[in-house]
Amino acid sequence: MTQSLTLPVSGMSCAACAARIEKQLNRLPGVDAAVSFASESAQLRYDPAQANPQQLVAAIERCGFAVPRQSMRLGIGGMSCAACAARLEKVLGKLPGVSASVSFAGESAQLAWLPGLTDLDAVLAAVRRAGFEPLLPETEDKAADASAARYRRELAWFAASAAMTLPFLVEMIAMFAGSHHGWLPRLWQLALATPVQFVIGWRFYRGAWQALRGGVANMDVLVALGTSMAWLLSAAVTLLNLPGQHVYFEASAMVITLVLLGKLLETRAKGKASAAIAALMKLAPKTARVEQGGELIDVPVDRLKHGDIVVVRHGDSLPVDGEVVSGEAWLDESMLTGESRPVAKRAGDKVYAATRNQDGMLKVRAQSVGSETQLAEIVRMVAAAQGSKAPIQRLADRLSAVFVPAVSAVALLTFLSTGWLLGSWSAALIHAVAVLVIACPCALGLATPTAIMVGVGNGARRGILFRNAEALERAGKVDVLLVDKTGTLTEGRPVLRHALALSGDEDALIQLAASVEAGSEHPLARALLQKAQERGLPLLTCADFRAEVGRGVAALVEGRGLVLVGTPAWLDMAMPDEARAWQDAGATVVAVRMDGQALGWLALADPLRASSAEALRQARSLGVRVMMLTGDDAATARSIAAEAGVDEWRAGMRPQDKAVVVRELQAAGRKVAMLGDGVNDAPALAAADVSLAMGSGSDVAISAADITLMRGDLRHAVDAIRLSRRTLAKIRQNLAFAFVYNMLGIPLAALGLLNPVIAGAAMAASSVSVVSNSLLLRRWR
Ligand code: ADP
Ligand code: MG
Repeated sequence: MTQSLTLPVSGMSCAACAARIEKQLNRLPGVDAAVSFASESAQLRYDPAQANPQQLVAAIERCGFAVPRQSMRLGIGGMSCAACAARLEKVLGKLPGVSASVSFAGESAQLAWLPGLTDLDAVLAAVRRAGFEPLLPETEDKAADASAARYRRELAWFAASAAMTLPFLVEMIAMFAGSHHGWLPRLWQLALATPVQFVIGWRFYRGAWQALRGGVANMDVLVALGTSMAWLLSAAVTLLNLPGQHVYFEASAMVITLVLLGKLLETRAKGKASAAIAALMKLAPKTARVEQGGELIDVPVDRLKHGDIVVVRHGDSLPVDGEVVSGEAWLDESMLTGESRPVAKRAGDKVYAATRNQDGMLKVRAQSVGSETQLAEIVRMVAAAQGSKAPIQRLADRLSAVFVPAVSAVALLTFLSTGWLLGSWSAALIHAVAVLVIACPCALGLATPTAIMVGVGNGARRGILFRNAEALERAGKVDVLLVDKTGTLTEGRPVLRHALALSGDEDALIQLAASVEAGSEHPLARALLQKAQERGLPLLTCADFRAEVGRGVAALVEGRGLVLVGTPAWLDMAMPDEARAWQDAGATVVAVRMDGQALGWLALADPLRASSAEALRQARSLGVRVMMLTGDDAATARSIAAEAGVDEWRAGMRPQDKAVVVRELQAAGRKVAMLGDGVNDAPALAAADVSLAMGSGSDVAISAADITLMRGDLRHAVDAIRLSRRTLAKIRQNLAFAFVYNMLGIPLAALGLLNPVIAGAAMAASSVSVVSNSLLLRRWR
């Protein structure tokens, strides 16, 4: 029986790519493939005995193409502890083509799946089968409402539980105060404790059953087991009227109440931890003013369509990404670019949702609405990063998985040995209950993810976007920071300062160079084109344009010849003293040559960013070695390096040379961060342990870097390292605390030195203190 499967394939630039993939796929035994460049997909028939979908995907990826996963973040209701998250992750991971990372702290799952193999319905069904409630991402507002409603419901449950437990508390206080006998008759106690145990506490049984059915033990198992034992013993004593025996109804009721209290506080704290996203979402307005048939009407943003003409008045925030059709205005784009100076926009310019019209009026044609905007993309990225798993968490996950069975064994042992030694089986039972209750691994499960959530959220608020938790964790271990010069240390907006024409006049030289540069996206090219426009020099027609990354450009200029514009080394031209002097002053000097004849020299100045020198100084004070890598000439590099205060630098580097430097440092045992402008530094960024990109304006979210700096401020690179170190320190504190708490608590409980009520309180306090400790990171600066 052959199976058929259609996989999307991205990254193909022509039909030859398709042919190459097809050949590779057909080479696999039992596979018959047809790859289409036009539809960007691979139609596959395969024999399941010989091949599986994962192999097919791997084969496509080996050819250098990607099989885009569908990904989404799904809210998950009904998880009671980290073990639930681990179990759900296992269940989802077993679905074909699905990878999932479930966050207990974020109450969500980050999912990626292959569209040909699974669909969303199958994923949702699997979540439900595992006993959880999948919550589809509605608009954030509704989600916020839902979580507020959930919180109120939890609060009501807790209040009911507390009310029924209160008499026990009064009785306990009376006992401590010396009244030797309780005033609450046993039958009354039974009447109060039973609904707490089975109505309010029903969730623990349900959770425990679902977990055990899935082959894992979680916190619900411990709570259900512990409280049921206390209740059963007491109920038996009461109903059978056993003489000389204590009852422990207060233990079962109070443990349940305290666990609920702990959950409640935890939920509230977790809500605070994810507040960063809500803050980002609030930047976009809820309604838009749309022009329809000559009239202006207010439309909720989720009803906007592509092509709608939106009117944005002075003081309004933009509801969509789009193109200006008419009007002129100054926009504050700082929420996306960090640049606080307002930007002038007129017809034809691209504008972005959430930016604010400070002055003027615009009519904008909507191009991206709702979840397609850059802002939504950023929000998604932050949410995904908050829900992702840090490598350091694996230890805690492994621990919590074996924890519950181990603790159950300890409890059993406690019961048997205490009973045997003391001869009192009811006391033995209560010791065992205390062991079960104190040992809940909640704090252990919350230690890492809450710190990650707060750390990532804090970064986002400051314009530092972490791609995932791993990036956040690794940034703190960096000990070498490599920075690119153009567009990173410098502003990336060079201006033509001097021109030296060897024959003919300056304008002719600029005209020729600009014409060749018309095909290039490089900042230097933009500078030359701008100068040509300023001076009213028309561009000449060119053919056969070619760009040599990190060296320059070439093209055939109509009626003239082959013109090259690029580094002096590439063009092999001897530099006159005048040009050398420009370099010593920090300008980039570019040579121009035609058909082997030297035409002249151009000097372009690109000022340092105001933040560069300070940022590099801060980096060094953190013990990070700083090095500048540039494709520019040594003389220019030396001058810029001196100005920025960098004493290690390398010049004349092509993008692949930068990657070699990264690997050399790594081979010497260094952890390397590369900060670049993301375009021609791609090889070095990919090789580095941590890649940082300066977000050039609104394309921030598209950048594939581990860390994107939304504001063009170099100090944020250092902040990213500091924030990472701080977050890691928090995680270690949390883990140590959770661990010590259990290490001390379990033996005390086993020896009978902790009664179950105290154990319940300690357990609730431990999760709450871990979450609160993580929340302290919000104040980090
Ligand atoms: P950096 O490493 O400083 O970011 P690049 O790798 O982008 O610099 O470029 C290195 C050098 O190559 C530049 O300093 C310039 O001399 C030359 N160059 C690159 N692209 C162009 C271009 N489009 N026009 C002229 N020169 C270029
Ligand atoms: Mg560069």
